[in-house]
Amino acid sequence: MAKRPARTELRPRFWERFPLDRLSEREWEALCDGCGKCCLNKLEDEDTGEVVFTRVACRLLDDETCRCGNYHCRKAIVPECVVLTPQTIADVAYWMPATCAYRLLWQQQPLPDWHPLVTGDPESVHAAGMSVRGWTVPEFEIPVEDWEDHIIQEEL
Ligand code: SF4
Ligand code: SF4
Repeated sequence: MAKRPARTELRPRFWERFPLDRLSEREWEALCDGCGKCCLNKLEDEDTGEVVFTRVACRLLDDETCRCGNYHCRKAIVPECVVLTPQTIADVAYWMPATCAYRLLWQQQPLPDWHPLVTGDPESVHAAGMSVRGWTVPEFEIPVEDWEDHIIQEEL
């Protein structure tokens, strides 16, 4: 596996100039727009493989910041949490939200104009209405058998 460069600075418009596996760890993390959509629980149809998102959020998701409440220890608390890397993106892209920066770049599409890297403002994802801020329900309040009642019909 290629080792990623350990730069501390973000190179100018790095997301347009370098492939995903040539980004530093800091650049890779900076790609996340902070939307929180991937932290919504999903339901997968066993027959068709279709994946749908629900409003039921992972127990560690902060509905206000849309960030993980314990990012560094999350795998110990939520073992099923997927760790995105340049090596795993191909396997998980099919269920990632359509607006996810990792999915977009993996599909060789540009970042949207509301992405914080483009605007320079971490709040722009929320201002554009592209995050889950304020509309999730915590998973400890909803039994798994009721998640179907919270399926999101629109594409995320
Ligand atoms: S969907 Fe993608 S961009 Fe949004 S929070 Fe998850 S990893 Fe970050
Ligand atoms: S553990 Fe954190 S990063 Fe993983 S799904 Fe839950 S809130 Fe998201």
